[in-house]
Amino acid sequence: MAIRKVVKIGETSLRKKSKPVKDFDEGLWELLDDMKETMYHCDGMGLAAPQVGVLRRAVVIDVNNAYVELINPVILTSKGEDTEEEGCLSVGKFRGRVVRPMQVTVKAQDRFGFEFTLTGEKWLARCMCHEIDHLDGILFVDKSLDKEKYIKNGGKI
Ligand code: ZN
Repeated sequence: MAIRKVVKIGETSLRKKSKPVKDFDEGLWELLDDMKETMYHCDGMGLAAPQVGVLRRAVVIDVNNAYVELINPVILTSKGEDTEEEGCLSVGKFRGRVVRPMQVTVKAQDRFGFEFTLTGEKWLARCMCHEIDHLDGILFVDKSLDKEKYIKNGGKI
């Protein structure tokens, strides 16, 4: 396992759409292990592969000490609404309010390719939405209610 460099906002790879994972092999497992180590090292709640410069649809999440890997995740259903301040390892210190669903159910594959669904509420739902956005080149600042303030203070998009 190794800690990888986290790509920062302003770099083009964060804005690209990631490709589906097709090979559930040692290359993927090494990527996931490195992402896990990098996320814990940076004290993050989640990390998406494009944040370490790999344009593949893979994310790791740890909300409330429950580690989960989502490969090729898709949001099946979402319910309700919740507003909280978010941050991102690729954005730096800025935190801003984002409206997200209160509950989402996500379909994904594990590191061996087996499909499963996961329903999360509140922070798990928020984190899954945030990380899945990364796979489509979307950053939380794009959706933040505090986007104007962020830009006014010189924040990059
Ligand atoms: Zn992020």
